[in-house]
Amino acid sequence: MTKYVFVTGGVVSGLGKGITASSIGLLLKSRGYKVFMQKFDPYINVDPGTMSPIQHGEVFVTADGTETDLDLGHYERFIDEELNYSSSITTGKIYSSVIEKERRCEYLGGTVQIVPHITNEIKSKVYEAGSSSKADIVITEIGGTIGDIESLAFIEALRQIRYELGIHNTFFVHVTLIPYTFGSGELKTKPTQHSVIELRSLGIQPDAMVCRTPLPLNDEIKKKLSLYCSIPNNNVIEAIDVKNVYQIPLNFLNQKIDQIILKHFGLPVKKINIKDWEKLVETVDNLNDEIEIALVGKYVELHDAYLSIMEALKHAGYKHKVKIKINWIDAEELEKKTNLKQVFKNSKGILVPGGFGARGTIGKMKAIKYARENNIPFFGICFGLQLAIIEFAKNVCGLSKASSTEFDENCEEPIIDLMEEQKAIVNKGGTLRLGNYECKIMKNTLAYEIYKQERILERHRHRYEFNNKYKELLESKGMIFSGINEKSNLVEIIELPSHPHFIACQFHPEFKSRPTRCHPLFDSFIKACIKIKTVK
Ligand code: GLN
Repeated sequence: MTKYVFVTGGVVSGLGKGITASSIGLLLKSRGYKVFMQKFDPYINVDPGTMSPIQHGEVFVTADGTETDLDLGHYERFIDEELNYSSSITTGKIYSSVIEKERRCEYLGGTVQIVPHITNEIKSKVYEAGSSSKADIVITEIGGTIGDIESLAFIEALRQIRYELGIHNTFFVHVTLIPYTFGSGELKTKPTQHSVIELRSLGIQPDAMVCRTPLPLNDEIKKKLSLYCSIPNNNVIEAIDVKNVYQIPLNFLNQKIDQIILKHFGLPVKKINIKDWEKLVETVDNLNDEIEIALVGKYVELHDAYLSIMEALKHAGYKHKVKIKINWIDAEELEKKTNLKQVFKNSKGILVPGGFGARGTIGKMKAIKYARENNIPFFGICFGLQLAIIEFAKNVCGLSKASSTEFDENCEEPIIDLMEEQKAIVNKGGTLRLGNYECKIMKNTLAYEIYKQERILERHRHRYEFNNKYKELLESKGMIFSGINEKSNLVEIIELPSHPHFIACQFHPEFKSRPTRCHPLFDSFIKACIKIKTVK
């Protein structure tokens, strides 16, 4: 039978609940258990796909094409398992589903209410995650902070699950903050005590507490927390601030959180295999060299908008033993700049990531042109590929009117255009080309050299496509279309063989990169950037 771990948060948001949940997942997986993870987001959007990346951070896309919260990225990177639709549940999804059932008269004339209909729907999503994944342990993180009105129905559903399944099949971890007050020079437990009181008032007694703290928790504080919150002393886990997030699972391992959970479930504590992770921590702690990569985007004020890209760059850095420093460049600001040499003077490579809409496109194309003309390693992702093609069409093929119908609806040369099947779509949410699609890679290309295989599966999130009408012209000027989706004849990868490293893809490779197994495209990009460094 599947066991369930629930991770709640108290006192303030942004404590690292996602990393806590992922770290627990990693430890349990490393002890030989099949782990599945799930996140509840209490907002009313059906998914984050319609939210601005500046508000919400990146939209992480799973293999099955679900647009999810960026915490899912942490989960996948830590537990190295592909998650899916069952992993990302929002208030919007729950209500949509209940309202649809009501319209179908599935409630047989009953009055539809938060309790029991909404809570039943939430419970069914938890149980479904267990049954569909066939995991030994499902870890569910509840977004927001205890006390929020938005998450009340979720907490009530979890209380009922504990009642239905029993204490030994459910485990509650409360992530909380132990602030340090400078005046008295002390760590303070009171906010945590209150947040546990709040949780108890909703019917939930946590089994363990993960305490985010700037200083080590001494015995006295642990005892106090334990007594006032009714949590065994050993179950008060210290989560001290760290420089290297990969250290967190190891810190938890030292405090035996995995053993506490397994014993609570009555499951054997099998031997742990966590060597790769330990090696990773050591690598990250010992990076001496650093290289700078320019990232040209329009959401750069919130770095989380590019979280998986930052992670994927770092992963490739670990492989090549270099720290990655990102030169954040606001694409719109770049439009006004004349001295690009100055802007990119320390950057060994230029990356143009995904994006939507007209704002910043001129600046991005300016950066692409600079990379192309100056032999600087270039990597374009999604919108980055589309703009690289437009830039090439304009400046190399002489198509001065080249553009995309996304931001220039009636353009004369629609190099990037809507697919036929997208034209009739009215709803914007959930209707992009999403998730895994196969791509065939042409032999004797950079892409083939990178992937070393002919068929790859990568995750997508876009609506517009390269217009094949222009293929021949672009090819005649030296652009290679090295990756194609054969089924729909769509361009997936482009490259310029005349350049030391100019490659772009329509999909999002960043979602598949793992800290101990970097993505081949990021690997080769960083390798090329390092090479440039040693040449110059
Ligand atoms: N705006 C482009 C499209 O919809 C690219 C999307 C992206 O970069 N994720 O096709």
